[in-house]
Amino acid sequence: MSGSTALEAAPHVDSALLQRLENRISVPADRDRIEVRAPFTGEVLGTVPDATATDVAEAVERARRAQRRWAEMGLAARSRILTRFHDLLIDNADIAMDLLQLEAGKARVPAFEEVFDTVATTRYYLNTAPRLLRRKRRAVSLPGFTSAWEYQHPIGVVGNITPWNFPFTLSISDIIAALIAGNGVVVKPDEKTPYSAVFGATLLDEAGLPADVLQVVSGYGETAGSALIDEVDFINFTGSTEVGRIVSAHAGKRLVAASMELGGKNATVVLSDADLSRTIPGVARAVYANGGQLCIAMERIYVAETVLDDFIARFVDYSRSLPMTAMFDFSSGLSAMIDSEHLDRVHSHVEDAVAKGATLLTGGKPRPDIGPTFYEPTVLTEVGDDMLLCRSETFGPVVSVYGFSTVEEAVALANDSEYGLNFSVWTSDTDRGVEIASDLHAGTVGVNDGYAAAWSSYDAPMGGMKASGISRRHGEIGLLKFTESQTIAVQRVIPAFAPPFGIGYGLYQRLLGHMLKLLRRLPFYK
Ligand code: NAD
Repeated sequence: MSGSTALEAAPHVDSALLQRLENRISVPADRDRIEVRAPFTGEVLGTVPDATATDVAEAVERARRAQRRWAEMGLAARSRILTRFHDLLIDNADIAMDLLQLEAGKARVPAFEEVFDTVATTRYYLNTAPRLLRRKRRAVSLPGFTSAWEYQHPIGVVGNITPWNFPFTLSISDIIAALIAGNGVVVKPDEKTPYSAVFGATLLDEAGLPADVLQVVSGYGETAGSALIDEVDFINFTGSTEVGRIVSAHAGKRLVAASMELGGKNATVVLSDADLSRTIPGVARAVYANGGQLCIAMERIYVAETVLDDFIARFVDYSRSLPMTAMFDFSSGLSAMIDSEHLDRVHSHVEDAVAKGATLLTGGKPRPDIGPTFYEPTVLTEVGDDMLLCRSETFGPVVSVYGFSTVEEAVALANDSEYGLNFSVWTSDTDRGVEIASDLHAGTVGVNDGYAAAWSSYDAPMGGMKASGISRRHGEIGLLKFTESQTIAVQRVIPAFAPPFGIGYGLYQRLLGHMLKLLRRLPFYK
């Protein structure tokens, strides 16, 4: 690093900015304080207040009052503000990226990915919201007598609970859709990484977001997070499957809808015809992105036996060559682990596997010479079902490689997981790749790509099957989930679903039966 502390080394962030961000948090400053540390060095960057349940309830109440005015402003006025935010974020990207490197220990590449993902998501919803939110005429049973329209209303106040691994985009890009639909929002970022979310809020303020529409509360999950679920009208949760189950049950008790983006144990299938010169760097990118602390990163690689030895030798070489630095530039390939507790968890998965007979081909060690929580890119083979690495999410730069003899076997192995988040297939025959992809039980599958193609296809929904989630972000659903749909129907002359002109129900039943059989033959009749 080019300074004695991480904060000194960060070119676009100083303590005055951190102080300004702390002041933007919607929790009284005199509460107990939570230390926020820089993973690159372990130094304390600053402190944020530990919100009580009352603080959270008050933040939601402020957002609720402001939301009504925000919804009444109309889509065009809201879009003008979010367009300014889009441009402001591009202009201030370096600050956001520095903050992400500082508080999350990220290499600059995943910091860049987060920030520009938020820009692109904002653009996508600015372009699609007019179509998605406008009143839609709906088909009716009695054309000419009934007219029906579907309206999209904001739900009210959305609570967004987010993890530490992508703290900017998960806190901000998801709520762009909620805001554009006219909702108020309260974000509860992870206590380890609050600053980047608050920075996003300050850019929205600067863009003209009315006061109080967006609140950011700092605090722990069991207290502040839980209190948020008690108050809001919709929960947008991203985090572990374990906590997702608790959050989902809590939201269920209140009968508020919840969107769940959860964990994974993602699998890559490498076919015998894959071009290894492209596949090796592509798979490595998907394994080591953000030091493996990416929900859609790959932790299992299944390789056709005919190319297994070649793949392993080249993948191990490639993994060893990845640069790892604690620098505020694009030189590093790997992020630090978020904290020493997580480093220990990652290392324990490797130690458990080695103790039970797995073969460690490279890595398997912390790198305190670079920073207190860096961990080497790690590749193992001979990983058995009794090892933690086999089925539990490791969430570090650690991958297991397995062989397969038939594609059916590879698909069965990949699908043999409680999770189904993001998989990939590598082959020279992309049509075959797409066919295999459709047999994989995962919410997104990349063909000749590990995660970025699906992630950056904003018009397509993104999320998990099985224990990896409920609902989706991106696409139409990523906006419409933040709305209540309302049907308004107008009936004229004769009643709907009741006998007209004084005829009895017996005759009406027969006439209706004949009519429905006729209508079934009309392809345009819905
Ligand atoms: P986590 O589940 O421990 O925490 C996530 C958030 O939930 C934090 O803000 C935390 O404070 C809060 N929380 C904890 N207990 C709570 C409770 N009882 N009530 C309400 N809120 C509570 O997750 P993490 O360790 O911060 O993040 C890593 C996990 O997130 C991994 O499993 C990863 O796969 C997953 N993740 C998923 C996606 C996705 O889109 N599917 C994206 C990023 C991360």
